[in-house]
Amino acid sequence: MTTSSSQPISEALFARARQVTPGGVNSPVRAFGSVGGHPHFIASADGAYLTNADGQRLLDYIGSWGPMILGHNHPGVREAVAEALQGGTSFGAPNEREVLLAEKVVELTREQGVERVRFVNSGTEATMSALRLARGVTGRSHIVKFRGNYHGHADGLLVEAGSGLLTTAEGGLGEAAPSSAGVPQEYAALTLVSEYNDPAALDTLMQQRGHDIAAVIFEPVVGNSGVLIPTPEFLAALHRVRDHGALLIADEVMTGFRLSLQGACGRLGIQPDLITWGKIIGGGLPVGAYGGRAEVMENVSPSGPVYQAGTLSGNPLAMAAGLATLGELQAKPELYEQLERYTAALADGLKAAAQEAGVPLSVNHIGSMLTAFHQEAPHGSVQTYQQAARSDTAAFAGWFRAMLRQGVYWAPSQFESIFVSAAHGDAELNLTLDAARRAYAELK
Ligand code: PMP
Repeated sequence: MTTSSSQPISEALFARARQVTPGGVNSPVRAFGSVGGHPHFIASADGAYLTNADGQRLLDYIGSWGPMILGHNHPGVREAVAEALQGGTSFGAPNEREVLLAEKVVELTREQGVERVRFVNSGTEATMSALRLARGVTGRSHIVKFRGNYHGHADGLLVEAGSGLLTTAEGGLGEAAPSSAGVPQEYAALTLVSEYNDPAALDTLMQQRGHDIAAVIFEPVVGNSGVLIPTPEFLAALHRVRDHGALLIADEVMTGFRLSLQGACGRLGIQPDLITWGKIIGGGLPVGAYGGRAEVMENVSPSGPVYQAGTLSGNPLAMAAGLATLGELQAKPELYEQLERYTAALADGLKAAAQEAGVPLSVNHIGSMLTAFHQEAPHGSVQTYQQAARSDTAAFAGWFRAMLRQGVYWAPSQFESIFVSAAHGDAELNLTLDAARRAYAELK
């Protein structure tokens, strides 16, 4: 499958969009800023494929940045949303689907300590609310996050943040906190930053400042500096933050229901105090959530003093999409093995293709998440943010453009994970690896 390199309709739409929307997009990484060219405007999506406004089909590895684990336009999800639609779009009052989805989340994550869950509308709201709760419960003001982790765009979390902040002009690699204009230094000072996969650094920080710290928030598998997998020693250090009275918040917005039905926490044996979700929990509609033990969560209003609210929270269409998605994943647990097999084969194929062409490449993958870093990692795999940052972003950009010309739509940044869906099969794997071989050969 090849697409012509010209997309006149997308280009015209992008030009119009720039007249009415900052940068022409509603979320920065969509603008292709770090890879060059213009974004493809998408007209529709089905299974593993997108169709752009110029009528070209693209094999999609972004999956709307994570939610579409079942593939696009999944009939079960579409029908559930259509059925909910018959009853109206929003009530601003409780509805049964909220109860059903909360029961489902608690059922799936009870072993990770989740007894109560509150729905919001995005991952950003979930992490922001979880941190307010942790501050409310502990009476402390500081939080700890890790360099290159991304937890959405709440002010206090835009400090040494990953994802789009790693490639935009404003928030370049290595820049000091905060990573966005508009975040007051005084506010950013409440966010302390440590290094992912560096247990000694975290222990030292907690020894020095533990008494001030309300919460330590982390990505249980990082997707936002590219994929980084936590070491057992680092996970042990994370659990020790509780000895200082801080709450441990696992941000599973990306990994929840993706790395297993119990998320990365279930898969890796992590026992946090609070978990945040987004993406898959809403099956492609805007949903986020946070949850934890009853004694912690009952501090949220109206039960307790920590205020948090939302006009559209628990929206019936969004709840229906989440219920259908989680229901399908639960009914077909073998899907996780299928995703894992595909992703492992993709990793092997990319490494072989790069090696054949003499292109340095180091691939991290777990479950259905994968990043191919354009570098030769010293110990075989990229483990830290600093190591990820040494990737050859120009080589990545060239490879990305060569893939797109061949109709394969990879994440448009070196520092993102790609997401495999249940709709990716043998044909898609072969198509991808054929394209990758040609793209690596071009790089040489
Ligand atoms: N946390 C993590 C780990 C994420 O990956 C993201 C988004 N990619 C967010 C939070 C923010 O979610 P949202 O974009 O829905 O606000």
